This record gives sequence, C-alpha cells and structure tokens, in this order.
Amino acid sequence: MRKMMIAGNWKMNKSPVEAAGLAEKIAGKVGDIRHVDIVICPSFPALTAVYEKIEKSYVRLGAQNLFWEREGAYTGEVSTLMLRESGCRYVIIGHSERRSHFGETDETVSRKAAAALEWNLIPIICVGEKLEERERGEVESVITKQIKGSLAHLNDENIAKIVLAYEPVWAIGTGKTATPAQANEVHGLIRALVGDIFSKEAASELRILYGGSVKPDNIRALIAEEHLDGALVGGASLDEHSFVEIVTGCLPDTSGAEAETGDSQ
Ligand code: PEP
Repeated sequence: MRKMMIAGNWKMNKSPVEAAGLAEKIAGKVGDIRHVDIVICPSFPALTAVYEKIEKSYVRLGAQNLFWEREGAYTGEVSTLMLRESGCRYVIIGHSERRSHFGETDETVSRKAAAALEWNLIPIICVGEKLEERERGEVESVITKQIKGSLAHLNDENIAKIVLAYEPVWAIGTGKTATPAQANEVHGLIRALVGDIFSKEAASELRILYGGSVKPDNIRALIAEEHLDGALVGGASLDEHSFVEIVTGCLPDTSGAEAETGDSQ
C-alpha cells in the first residue's frame, strides 16, 4: 500500500522570514497528520528557519536542487551533506524549470539522484513532456527517454526509495491540469518502465506524484486514479489555506480511520 504524499515546491518565493511564517502555519494545521507524507521545499536560505518551525511536527523539509560532489571548488552549489545538516529529508531533482533554464539533463538528474540517496535524502525526480511534444504524439517516447536517463545511476536496491513526479510542462503554473485519465495513463507508463528496468516489486511500491496546477478542487479526482500517489504542488503551496486543503483532500473520507505511524525527523 503506497502512502500518499503532498510536496510543496515554493520555488524562488518567500524570504526566510516569510517562509518560516508559512511553515509555522502549515505545521500548526496539518503537522500531526500521518496518513499523508507532507513535504515543503523552500529556497536554500530559508531551509534552517523553516526546519525550526516544523521539526516537532510530521511535516518534512525538502530542497529544490543539489550538487553531487560532497565539497570543493563548486561556487554557488550546495551538497547533500549541507542539505542533511539543514534538516532536509527530501530534494526535488530535475524540475522542468531547472531543465529549461539551467541546463539540467537526464544525466545530471541521475547523478544528483544517486548522490542524494547515498546521503539518505529522498529524491523527488521530475519528468514531463512539453506541449508541442504532446501534440506531436511523443509523450511515450519523451517520458521513456527521461525515465531511463534520469534513473541511469540508480540500482535495484535504492530505486524503491525514490519518489517520481510526472509534471507535464504545459500544466505547470498555467492553470491547465492534465485530466485524471491523462495523468494516470502516463503514471501507468512510468510504473511499467520502472518495472522493466528494475523490478516489478519496486515499481509497485514506487510513489508517483502528479504536478501541474493542482488545486484544492482537483486533488481528489486526481488521486482517485490507480497510479497517482499524491501531488507536487507549486503555486497553490504558497498559500496556507490552499495547501492545507490539498493535504486534507488526500485524507480518507472515513473519519474513524486509524492513524499510521509517521517516521521521525
Ligand atoms: C511545480 O512547479 O512543480 C508545479 C507543479 O507548479 P504549479 O502547481 O504552480 O503548476
């Protein structure tokens, strides 16, 4: 049984003071929820301030990027060890904005993911096709190439620990959401690919998030699909109310459901 996850990608928004304030409000409202893994990913300078606000809750901290070397002459880069010491448990890797603006490739994504796992950080690895690729009927070939390349440095042992995010580029920040059926089709393809490259067992345990204009009013329909295990949320994660509603939208309808055991910081 795969546990739902909602991860908020705050991108280059919120100063450390603003981020700490938002994190405090989120932790105050959903910090004791254990049915859903909740992750918030502020900018690097805000990590420590946010961690201080969430460390006693079940909300986890994530970063938005890393570099695979442990230390050295890499001006402007941040290592896995630095992220771990700042309280991170997760890291987003290969977001389409990094692929398009900062030259991220499947190879660099894969190296970063392997480095994250080596230091016990869970990578949330993003893939997704552009609008013109969808219109040309290339979704399957684009996703297959991205998945194979982005997982190239991973192995049978660590594959089950990762989280994948399917984020169609045309749906990010545009207000256009993939239909639940469209998303499920690609998630099913991703699961099958992981099953072929690694093992069926790992593929069945693997969490695949959907990202692209997720809002409180579409989360339930999306996660009702077989292969959707939660969401990576951009714009709506910057607002306490909508983020909290998205999280609570993933809770089972039955109020008497038993609490699951959460992991500890
Ligand atoms: C994202 O940036 O990962 C994202 C999904 O953004 P939005 O929710 O704003 O579309």
